[in-house]
Amino acid sequence: MGGIGPGRKLKVIVVGAGIGGLTAAAALHQKGFEVQVYERARQLGEVGAGLQIAPNAVKVIRALGLEEEFMRVAAEPIERLSIKWDTGEVTVRERFKDRMPEIFGARYLMAHRADLHRLLLSRVPESSVHTGVACADVANTAEGAVMRTEDGREIEGDVILGADGIKSTVRGKLFGFLTPRFTNQICWRLILPMEELHRAADKLPTRLTGSEYVGWLGPTGHVLFYPIRGGELLNIFAGRVSTEWASDDWAVPSSKEEMLQAYAGWHPGMLHVLSQAAEVFKWGIHDRDPLDHWVQGRIALLGDAAHPMMPTLAQGAAISLEDGYAIARHLALGDADPTAALLAYERERQPRGKRVQLQARQQFINNQLVPPPPPLPVDWIYSYDAASGSMHKAA
Ligand SMILES: Cc1cc2nc3c(=O)[nH]c(=O)nc-3n(C[C@H](O)[C@H](O)[C@H](O)COP(=O)(O)OP(=O)(O)OC[C@H]3O[C@@H](n4cnc5c(N)ncnc54)[C@H](O)[C@@H]3O)c2cc1C
Repeated sequence: MGGIGPGRKLKVIVVGAGIGGLTAAAALHQKGFEVQVYERARQLGEVGAGLQIAPNAVKVIRALGLEEEFMRVAAEPIERLSIKWDTGEVTVRERFKDRMPEIFGARYLMAHRADLHRLLLSRVPESSVHTGVACADVANTAEGAVMRTEDGREIEGDVILGADGIKSTVRGKLFGFLTPRFTNQICWRLILPMEELHRAADKLPTRLTGSEYVGWLGPTGHVLFYPIRGGELLNIFAGRVSTEWASDDWAVPSSKEEMLQAYAGWHPGMLHVLSQAAEVFKWGIHDRDPLDHWVQGRIALLGDAAHPMMPTLAQGAAISLEDGYAIARHLALGDADPTAALLAYERERQPRGKRVQLQARQQFINNQLVPPPPPLPVDWIYSYDAASGSMHKAA
């Protein structure tokens, strides 16, 4: 790359068009950078399931100018319920909707990953997104960084961002390839038409309208029900403690019978809802130990490439959104010296990513204790505003 001077836009290459990569691309584009995104998959589309989008993530969506549109495709549960796994006793029923903005400065929303992904993509120029291109290698050069693709091309930029997920090639090239850790958790994720919950009304231990965020909690797992896509769909996350995971694939085909067997003895109403699944996959949950550095020269990691974490706090995508915005903010502040800007990004983000990663692990351990201790504090997570790099102060 030529020298960076007045009048020349910094060119940023983003590897991976997941939630983290597209957030970085949208924020960089918003701030006037030239950005090119390279994604291994041939098509971007309806992948993934429901995601909880906590207030810290919604603040990033707001900073990208997408909050209103996001509200239209997301859902905000009215109440939160905890239900005992076997007896169906409701141990907590509390107001959920509208409480979060007062305390944390933004709503707590639920959405299909595909809906959030589509919105982020709408903020990146079409000509900047290249699908079917896999990164095989990255290296720093005298004036920037270069990516080599699997089909042998070399693409240069001033900066390369590795947003290529838990099995990140960029991370492997910079810091070594290590196998992710199986966390002793497996899960099933399914999406049902909301009518299925309504049809199950007489089997459930309490009235559920579909506008609730429900946790069926047991010592060997928990099952979450929550609405997505404006309440049209019911998202179900069924997590189970298990020390056995034979496959090295993340998601493997499973059967309804296998899933129901894993929850033998749980409340029949909950099992009835699970039994409405059409197609069933199971996932082995993997994470990694925190990484001390996310940056090497002009190459930086973000999202799961930097800090893959257990879903216990529902923060993986949220912290990826934060990273994506924060890296654009640092590059905009210090575009005359991108190397220093990337180091400033690492100084700001690595301690937070590491802390959330470790708390997600600890919360998983605590959930298995009988009786479970009170949940670990999350206010320091939700209060954060990555658009400014500061905490929201409750009014
Ligand atoms: C069961 C489960 C439930 C979860 N629930 C929540 C939740 O409720 N809330 C929440 O905030 N988070 C949740 N998460 C976490 C969240 O899904 C992830 O943290 C988040 O999607 C990570 O985004 P990312 O962009 O870093 O990575 P990814 O979404 O994995 O994207 C990486 C992209 O890079 C591409 N890629 C990979 N290698 C290459 C290559 N060599 N070259 C080019 N492209 C490449 C991939 O195809 C992919 O598109 C959950 C995770 C799991 C497993």
